[in-house]
Amino acid sequence: MPAPMKRKKKMEQLAIFGGTPVRSESERIYYGRQWIDEDDVNAVADTLRSNFITCGPRSEELERKLCDITTARHAVVCSNGTAALHLACLAIGIHEGDEVIVSAMTFAASSNCVLYCGGTPVFADIRKDTYNIDVEDVKRKITPHTKAVVAVDFTGQAVELDELKKICDEHGLFLIEDAAHSIGTRYKGRPVGSIADITTFSFHPVKTVTSGEGGACMTNDDELYKKLHLLRSHGITKDPAEMVRESEGPWYQEQIMLGFNYRLTDFQAALLISQLNKLEKFDKRRKEIRRIYDAAFSDVKGLILQESLSDSDTTQHLYILRIDPAELKCTRREFFDALYAEGTCPQVHYIPVYRHPYYEKLGYKKGLCPVAEEVYENILSIPFYAAMSDKDVNDTITAVRKVCEYYAR
Ligand SMILES: *Cc1c(COP(=O)(O)O)cnc(C)c1O
Repeated sequence: MPAPMKRKKKMEQLAIFGGTPVRSESERIYYGRQWIDEDDVNAVADTLRSNFITCGPRSEELERKLCDITTARHAVVCSNGTAALHLACLAIGIHEGDEVIVSAMTFAASSNCVLYCGGTPVFADIRKDTYNIDVEDVKRKITPHTKAVVAVDFTGQAVELDELKKICDEHGLFLIEDAAHSIGTRYKGRPVGSIADITTFSFHPVKTVTSGEGGACMTNDDELYKKLHLLRSHGITKDPAEMVRESEGPWYQEQIMLGFNYRLTDFQAALLISQLNKLEKFDKRRKEIRRIYDAAFSDVKGLILQESLSDSDTTQHLYILRIDPAELKCTRREFFDALYAEGTCPQVHYIPVYRHPYYEKLGYKKGLCPVAEEVYENILSIPFYAAMSDKDVNDTITAVRKVCEYYAR
């Protein structure tokens, strides 16, 4: 006897095949965007009308505020997150012959900073559940030339800091935490920024708080702080205690190392102070959207959600969906295009760094970090930011569910 025909639920046609999109082009929801309100605008305008628009009181106020929020001893704000990573590598003395272990699943800046200093990035694979650096692989990649580890709090979730610190201490390595995604996150109750030897932040507009462009290095170490501070501004000091020669007068300053101009303007600092006043609000909203997404997607066939570790109280930066090719008959590309056609704008974070042509030319080969490569093939980031309205959130959920239903095997 033939099996009874399964009655297929009537499905809405996907926009990519001519159906009606969940959102129109003019209302497209992007994967990330800033939240700027009148407080922010006024803070910038007030600073522009003041005496100092760079190297003034706002930058110092911002550094104190970052120390308050993170409980770190020192902050050095700078022009962007990439500059912060460069300063961190310079401060710990990375140079030719040094190896630095870097998470493979990150933005290129996390390892470019090693190359800027003449060092060699060595990529460690990620965990398949959290997508953060795999501590066991870090151990395997240590050689007598290893000098540091750059660990990335991917999507805002803190890496396993205690385990990494222990390994670094055992081998005399510096731990740099690339916390571009994770300002506001706490690890076992301690704020990110107060734990690694140097923690770096980015304040690009897609990150949780923004100054347009901006970054910071946090450290508890007085010596590292002095170096970061000098390197940010040409390696020139006005502090007589740091000078090689006697001061020649009030104008006198000395260049004592080769630094850069990586300073932040005071109106950007004013903007960031105003943004940090809203960090708790942003964190709450991000946690709320994450909970709504988790609930909406946990039962959807074909979607694999990022695992959370209870050690990290996460200020969520990105929301990643991984498609399960055994459950969905589409590629990531098809999934991405279908979601785009529904009026969202997803993104993919990230191409494993060493898969970029520049790194390939340096000799890095496909297959180096198999988990990162496999995860990369199936992930995408859906719209996720504090300023999303409830309708933005619901429409994103509708779009994702519509696409999953269509492609379900
Ligand atoms: C954004 C980002 C950076 C770079 O920060 P910029 O401020 O854009 O220079 C570095 N690492 C990670 C993981 C990032 O997401």
